[in-house]
Amino acid sequence: MTKAIALYSGGLDSTLAILVAMRQGIEVTAVTFLTHFGCDISDKSSCSKDPFSAAAQFGFEVKLCHLADKFIEVVKKPKFGHGKNMNPCIDCRILMLKEAKELMAMRGADFIITGEVLGQRPMSQRRDTFPKIDREAGLAGSIVRPLSAKLLKPTIPEQTGIVDRERLCGFNGRSRKPQMALAKEFGLTDYPAPAGGCLLTDPIYSYRLRELLAHEPSPSLKDIQLLRSGRHFRIPDACKIIVGRNEGDNNIIQSLADGGDYLLWVDGFGSPLIIVRGAATDGVLRLAASLCARYSDAKGLPSVNVSVAGNGTGFKIQAQPATEAMLNSYMIQLPGKEEVINQ
Ligand code: SF4
Repeated sequence: MTKAIALYSGGLDSTLAILVAMRQGIEVTAVTFLTHFGCDISDKSSCSKDPFSAAAQFGFEVKLCHLADKFIEVVKKPKFGHGKNMNPCIDCRILMLKEAKELMAMRGADFIITGEVLGQRPMSQRRDTFPKIDREAGLAGSIVRPLSAKLLKPTIPEQTGIVDRERLCGFNGRSRKPQMALAKEFGLTDYPAPAGGCLLTDPIYSYRLRELLAHEPSPSLKDIQLLRSGRHFRIPDACKIIVGRNEGDNNIIQSLADGGDYLLWVDGFGSPLIIVRGAATDGVLRLAASLCARYSDAKGLPSVNVSVAGNGTGFKIQAQPATEAMLNSYMIQLPGKEEVINQ
């Protein structure tokens, strides 16, 4: 039986690509990739949506594969560059295809399927980009794009006849109408709206990540995870202060704190949880206490008692709420943008 491995985000296009192959009797194993940057099946900002519901409805298997540090290296130094923000879409596709190639060998599959549509995305879904991606992944001629195949050069599986080219599609461009019509034909009714991409396409997140990499070329996973939450302040040559904006941020900060970090908060008032990471001198902790007072419900008081815990100690700092000038001089802020990450 002809077997294929499909890159599968759980979105409409990758689901349809699988269904178009399956209706030719091809056995498909789908692989959904996860990264530290939001392509997580539980994450609304993600390229990936719930991959299991269509799999259950149509009867194909889904494997999850975390790209972990391999992806971080690609983000830091993509051979084909970043997109508008820190998204290295071409290198990202190549990495996913290389991983899928390993699965293809393990499973004895014949080729790889993707849900890409010619002309749909400016960077990675162009006629001249597909062959480049395929070559770089070591898969020239072995990647079938069922949704646009009729507009592309025949692949090896089409030439050898294990895939019937006539039963593939010729979709082109950004309109989703042909896909929606095809979904109806298949009885696929529950599919997500198109996603904008992972967190690396978010300008504010990308600005924070660039800033982090400029100060710490090999950031820890926790440093990267913290980029999603809170307001961020850089204390030159010393450390970083992150201020929770709400209960969700505070919970994340608490869960990501290490033994060497300091946590600050104001007792008895609505308060952010603040984390200080790096060389926390007395001066840095006093500044963090001022920020804590400023973002707490006690900000109208002339002086606020801020609790500090970390490095096995606990103490209080009496702090004046930070002034606007202090906030502006230390905040890591994309000029002209609100500090809200699109997630
Ligand atoms: S948006 Fe680009 S970089 Fe992010 S996961 Fe999708 S293809 Fe990869």
